[in-house]
Amino acid sequence: MKIHNFSAGPCILPQVVFDKMAQACLDFNNSGTSILEISHRRKDAVEVIDTARALVKELMNVPETHDVVFMQGGASLQFPTVAYNLLKEGGKAAYTQTGKWAENAIKEAKRFGEIEVIASSKDQNYNYIPKGYTVPSDVDYFHCTSNNTIFGTQMKEFPNSPVPMVCDMSSDILSRTIDVSKFGVIYAGAQKNMGPAGSAVAIVQKDLLGKTGRNIPDYLNYETHIKKESSFNTWPVIAIYGVMLNLQWLKEQGGVEAIAKINTAKADAMYAEIDRNGLFTGTATTEDRSQMNATFVLNNEDFKADFDAMLKEAGVVSLAGHRDVGGYRASMYNALPLESVQVLVEVMKQFEQKFG
Ligand SMILES: *Cc1c(COP(=O)(O)O)cnc(C)c1O
Repeated sequence: MKIHNFSAGPCILPQVVFDKMAQACLDFNNSGTSILEISHRRKDAVEVIDTARALVKELMNVPETHDVVFMQGGASLQFPTVAYNLLKEGGKAAYTQTGKWAENAIKEAKRFGEIEVIASSKDQNYNYIPKGYTVPSDVDYFHCTSNNTIFGTQMKEFPNSPVPMVCDMSSDILSRTIDVSKFGVIYAGAQKNMGPAGSAVAIVQKDLLGKTGRNIPDYLNYETHIKKESSFNTWPVIAIYGVMLNLQWLKEQGGVEAIAKINTAKADAMYAEIDRNGLFTGTATTEDRSQMNATFVLNNEDFKADFDAMLKEAGVVSLAGHRDVGGYRASMYNALPLESVQVLVEVMKQFEQKFG
């Protein structure tokens, strides 16, 4: 049976990525050795990470002022890394608090200095994106989360920031066009929309670095990874290979602009059904709805077992919502085809016919 994987992360990837990764596990580049047992300094391994970095630059139109690095520790290690690299001794930073991941980013940054939460949607269980706030000019940087994976909200535009803007784009990087030059740092754990788990990407404006007066551990210093071209220590070759293949696939689809159109079509179809169908209610404020993660609940929980059985029968998997929201969450990352959304919509329609 065909499976429709709506997982919030690690995400669905294109079949061609799985096929090539599987082959590389058996024999990488006809070398007689598996990609799992080779040095990260072997020529064809270096080519993998170089290609992946170049593809991020190309697909996101990264300007010369910025560089792209791959690190480990996921987005979670980027939370303190950002503060380490940008928050001066005795300095201050401004954060928006728009979800669980933003909370974690704030918590980690607080270890390094004063954090001012300039806007929050916690009062409504993060079901909207705060607007109308002003980013202060007396802080070292401003941090926001572009897409709130758990709550299903997404920033449709970014504020004008008088200080470097840092953004956690873990769950919507490469899903829509972004003007990278507006950001000091963009970072993302790979496993939401970029590849398998095992790496994080950071796009860093180079001239912001080296100014905090802090004694930064080598690994957590962006300058280290820029200088060593992401090969400071042993990086996970198989994980970055997966990222590289997925980026090559994205390029073949026509790049970010092309996939953004498909993502809009998927989200439109999904939200149209949530709004039309009397048995479901969307949990995020309409204007702030995420194109990546659509969150919704059953109006009558008594029918949950019936709906779940119908999903299972249709091959729809990983649709359960995060425990902080409950209900359902349809994650529609780049690799999820429109067809999968259509299958889910069809199940919702049939469910309404049976139980509505
Ligand atoms: C998943 C997620 C994270 C955490 O990512 P890890 O790579 O698991 O550390 C951070 N921010 C956002 C927006 C996420 O969706």
